[in-house]
Amino acid sequence: MKNCLVIGGGIAGLTAASILTSKNISVTLLEASPKLGGRTYSFKDQETKTTIDNGQHILMGCYIETLSFLKQIGAENNFVFQQNLKLIFLSKDKNKYQLNADKLFYPLNLLCAILNYDVLTLSEKLSFIGFILRLPFISQRTLKTKNVLDWLIQNNQNENSIKMFWEILGVGALNTNLKNASALLFHNILMQIFFNGNYSSTIVLPKFGLSESIVEPAEKYIFKNGGKIITSEKVKELKILNEKVIEVITDKSSYKDFDFVIFATPLFSIEKIIDPTLLGVNVDLTYSTILNIHIWIDDVALNEKFYGLLDSPLHWIFIKYNHINIVISDADYLDEKSKVEVYNIAIMELQKFIDIDEKKIKHYKIIKEKRATFIPTKEILDLRPSCKTKFSNLFLAGDWTNTGLPSTIESAAKSGRLVAEEIIKTL
Ligand SMILES: Cc1cc2nc3c(=O)[nH]c(=O)nc-3n(C[C@H](O)[C@H](O)[C@H](O)COP(=O)(O)OP(=O)(O)OC[C@H]3O[C@@H](n4cnc5c(N)ncnc54)[C@H](O)[C@@H]3O)c2cc1C
Repeated sequence: MKNCLVIGGGIAGLTAASILTSKNISVTLLEASPKLGGRTYSFKDQETKTTIDNGQHILMGCYIETLSFLKQIGAENNFVFQQNLKLIFLSKDKNKYQLNADKLFYPLNLLCAILNYDVLTLSEKLSFIGFILRLPFISQRTLKTKNVLDWLIQNNQNENSIKMFWEILGVGALNTNLKNASALLFHNILMQIFFNGNYSSTIVLPKFGLSESIVEPAEKYIFKNGGKIITSEKVKELKILNEKVIEVITDKSSYKDFDFVIFATPLFSIEKIIDPTLLGVNVDLTYSTILNIHIWIDDVALNEKFYGLLDSPLHWIFIKYNHINIVISDADYLDEKSKVEVYNIAIMELQKFIDIDEKKIKHYKIIKEKRATFIPTKEILDLRPSCKTKFSNLFLAGDWTNTGLPSTIESAAKSGRLVAEEIIKTL
């Protein structure tokens, strides 16, 4: 039986370990932190005793890799699936606007949803539909050199369409300003959403905390298949001989008995262990923050599970029984602000959209994830590495590797599947 050492227990490492153990490969997974899940986890807020996520995660019907991983580990029932796309947006005049694809059949239902999205004028709706219909015919080569904002403007998307739709979708999916993000990557996302069947555009949300919904079922699945998981053990050094990793040294122990090693960590973690250029990795990544603000309040008079906020620094709100989870993407500009300052900004802004009596707020919590995602600029497109390295027994996984996707759970799950397949191929 072959042995594989997986370094990192985020979604990429868990996906790779799940697939490899199911193929009768012996896996030992080493995770530096006391908990698994990496950037996808939940914990109990001590004050309110509610389980909250490190950040609300939104999945979509087009997340085929993630959905296949969830199926494999038996966690599909931990998610709520929309039948058709339905997004409700709130505006500052306290109106609601819907993108609702529940009428007609695919793809007419998506066109109908756009035609009924009344925050856009008729000519803006028509420009929007024209742009979507042109997507399959756009050359990938011309998109490589463009950023999302310039591309949208060149395609007749005016200021209002950008503010009222494209920024909400783009900043949510890419966690960066539309000027920073690669048009090619965004094009790929739009193709997935609009041209891959009705289900692709739908929203999928975890029913419970992220740890309960994904991480614990993955852990159980790996154990059931005989895999070993060691937490609170950090990899510090790799010993290399004749183009092969011969020893992995951690802060507690060292490992020599393996046939393969997978680095399923972010690039900035690899940089602390070995010079990435020695592995053949020449990409330089920058990261951006996602901020989640949780507000506990008794009477939340909103019926939907979540809403987008139009033309606001607050992007989405998720309604969870007695608390509201506000999401701010691309939030680097708030890094220097204190928690009280962030809270005050958020409440003042939220009050423009919904009636909230501040006196009824019982508790709040702010979670800043400073390196939530890497920024998918056009410059890094061709530099993201495949799962192979210059060392024959060392492989890479992680959302930042060359999956063609932005920094998402889907990219992490895809990278885990790709690395597992590469290893299985060598057997
Ligand atoms: C607040 C927030 C909101 C997000 N929202 C969404 C969303 O809505 N939809 C979506 O699809 N994605 C979202 N993402 C992105 C998604 O969470 C990540 O893309 C994904 O979790 C990355 O998984 P990964 O396995 O590649 O990396 P990670 O999750 O970073 O896992 C790497 C693991 O390696 C471990 N590690 C690092 N160094 C070592 C070492 N030396 N030894 C051992 N272990 C080590 C780390 O502790 C970590 O557990 C969000 C992320 C954040 C933070």
